[in-house]
Amino acid sequence: MTTQAEASLTVPTTQSGTGDGPSLDSGSGTGIAVRKVVLGFLVILLAVGVALLIAYFATVRHWLALHTGILNGGPDRYYNFWSGIGSDIGEATLVSAVGIGVYTGVRKVNCHTKGCWRIGHHALEGTPYILCRHHHPGVPTGGASHERILEEHRKFLDRRDAKGA
Ligand SMILES: [Zn+2]
Repeated sequence: MTTQAEASLTVPTTQSGTGDGPSLDSGSGTGIAVRKVVLGFLVILLAVGVALLIAYFATVRHWLALHTGILNGGPDRYYNFWSGIGSDIGEATLVSAVGIGVYTGVRKVNCHTKGCWRIGHHALEGTPYILCRHHHPGVPTGGASHERILEEHRKFLDRRDAKGA
């Protein structure tokens, strides 16, 4: 009797106690745990996403830098040298070449009179010299009117005709 009463009295209490309390606690506990897991998963996902985004942008930036020539700084690996301190060498070479070229050209086409830098257009008959109009005796230094030029041309034609006749 007492054992049955104890059993019947203790079993429902223990069943109800262990049935309601722990089941409800475990339910809320698993819910919190699931939320924590989901939250942690989201945080990890976010972190991975951010990391992937950073890595992706870094890759894209590196790709852009590599393929637009920023990484090597130019068409070749020496571009920075020639664009930097090497440009002085290039510039000096260029200036020297242009200077020598201009000097040679001027010396070739200019008046053969010493010290004259005018361009020689007129060959002096009987001599190998080509002179500027300032040093050529037969070329007037000043400008000529069209009438005077035509008159001189007519005189030349008259002289030639006189020679021919
Ligand atoms: Zn001259």
